[in-house]
Formats: sequence, C-alpha cells, structure tokens
Amino acid sequence: MFVLRRLPAAGPGVSGMESANGLLYLCATPIGNLADITLRALQILREADLVAAEDTRRTRRLLSHYDIHTPLVSYHEHNRRRQGEYLLERLAAGDTVALVSDAGTPGISDPGVELVREAVALGIPVTTLPGPSALLAALVVSGLAVERFVFEGFLPAKGADRNRRLAALAGETRTIVLYEAPHRLLKTLADLTVNLGERRACAARELTKLHEELLRDTLTGLQEHFTRQPPRGEFVLVIEGAGAASGAEAEEWAGLPLEDHVRLLMAEGLAKNEAIKKIARLRNLPRQELYKKIHVPE
Ligand code: SAM
Repeated sequence: MFVLRRLPAAGPGVSGMESANGLLYLCATPIGNLADITLRALQILREADLVAAEDTRRTRRLLSHYDIHTPLVSYHEHNRRRQGEYLLERLAAGDTVALVSDAGTPGISDPGVELVREAVALGIPVTTLPGPSALLAALVVSGLAVERFVFEGFLPAKGADRNRRLAALAGETRTIVLYEAPHRLLKTLADLTVNLGERRACAARELTKLHEELLRDTLTGLQEHFTRQPPRGEFVLVIEGAGAASGAEAEEWAGLPLEDHVRLLMAEGLAKNEAIKKIARLRNLPRQELYKKIHVPE
C-alpha cells in the first residue's frame, strides 16, 4: 500500500507545453504504420519519467525508432494488480507516466482502463494524448453509416454469453464495430449471419500496414471470401445496423405475410430454402428465425 500525497493541479498547458508532475498520460500509439504518431505523443514519451507498456518489446521498437530512451516498464493483463500499484505510487510521488497499449488507444479492449479508474478514484490527474484507434479507423473507411455506431470489442469466444450478445445485436439499428482474432473470424461471420440475417459489412484487415485490405461485402460474401482465403493478421469487423440499407425495401414487403411471401417466391421457381434466404435479405430479418416461423410445404 502507499500513501497518496496531495498533488499540484497538473494538466496540459494552454500553450501545448505540458506541466510535468504527477500526471498519467494515456498515450495512443500507431496501429501499424510507425509514422502515425502525434508530435505531442513523441514529446511526452520523451519527457515522461516512465513509460508503462502492454507489450514492452513492441513499444521498445517504437521508442528506438524515434530515439527515445525513457525507462520502460510493463503493465499488462497478467501483472496489472502489482504493477498498477507501483505505477500509482510513482504517480502519487509526482512522476509523469505515459501509458501505452499494444497498439492504438490505451483503454480500448486492453487493460489500461483499470489504471485509469484507480487513478481517477485517487484524485491523480489523468489526461489523454489522442491518436490512432483501430475501431475508428475501420468505422470511417467502412463505407457504412457512421452517424450512430456501437462498439462491442471482442465477443465472448463461446457459451451463453456469446449467444446473448449475438441475440442482442440482432435488433441493433446502429452500425456495429467488433474486434476479432483471425482464427475466430469465420465462426463469428457465420454466427452473425445466423443471428442478424444478411447484412452489408466491412472486414478491415491490417489497417495502416503493408497488407492493409478493406473487404466490403455482405456477411455471407465475407464468409465465402475467407473460406477461400484463410484470414491472417488483425481485423476489425464493421456491420450495418438492422434496417440500415434495406429499410425502404423492407417496409415495402412488411404488409405481405411471411408465408405468402415464401409461396410467391416458390411460384417464381425458387426452392423453399432459397426463398427464405431471399426474404431474410429483402426484409432484413434473421434467417434462422424465418426457418422456425415459416411452415410452408417444400
Ligand atoms: N487499444 C487498441 C485500439 O485502440 O485500437 C485495440 C487493442 S485490441 C487488444 C487489439 C485488436 O484491435 C486486434 O485484435 C484487432 O481486432 C484490432 N486491431 C488493432 N490493430 C489493427 C490493425 N492494424 N488493423 C485491423 N485491426 C486492428
């Protein structure tokens, strides 16, 4: 334990020059391209008493690229209790600490958030050095609606929690942003298709890196693509909200009972399964729900 000393009211100066003591900086760092660092982040990384990094090897590369030699300590998921206490002690003693995550903005799907909470609770000044974040980078290039969006981070890998979160997303009308690991991408695309119905989506891969790729398609289109070409690298998935694209079209069909709609399409020559798939797309409804609701003979 440590005793919290009263700190001077430190904070970013109006002129852009930083006052130095007892301040936790949340320092955004590049999500790929090392040039995506702000001048202010470089200044603070150089002048801070300590840099606390989620991945010291990765941050050391960044620091040496910019010839910065500030002492570096680790702060990650597995040492956050012990190390958090140490960092709070240093902050309380008047030091400046720059917190750096693996990449992007500390606190977004990484352990930084806990240190912030504790520092705030102890009255330690916390400020931000804004910069890259994979979620915003992906959202704005997705081509989907950006006016209202919801960030879900990583979905639970399995079990009831995952199912609950997926079910809750089905009616979400805002654009949905998810992080996903490459080895789980296909499963997540499949689960999203089942729960949300067919939607437009964008898989933003390796943003700002050499192999950056933006795949704009439907959920099933993306599934097909990644079945042919197994996913590699880092991904953000951006998915359109319920009713976003086909709102007008869905409204047109809303007056026609579902079973009549199936019969109509079957009369046009579609098999029952194909008809249900098409209705899910036209009316923006989850396919799985339709299979349960519709009882028309094959
Ligand atoms: N704090 C980070 C931020 O602000 O973006 C996110 C940390 S989270 C542990 C890491 C996840 O972010 C990756 O699994 C991936 O989903 C996403 N990500 C990070 N860098 C990326 C990149 N260059 N391209 C695509 N996704 C990226």
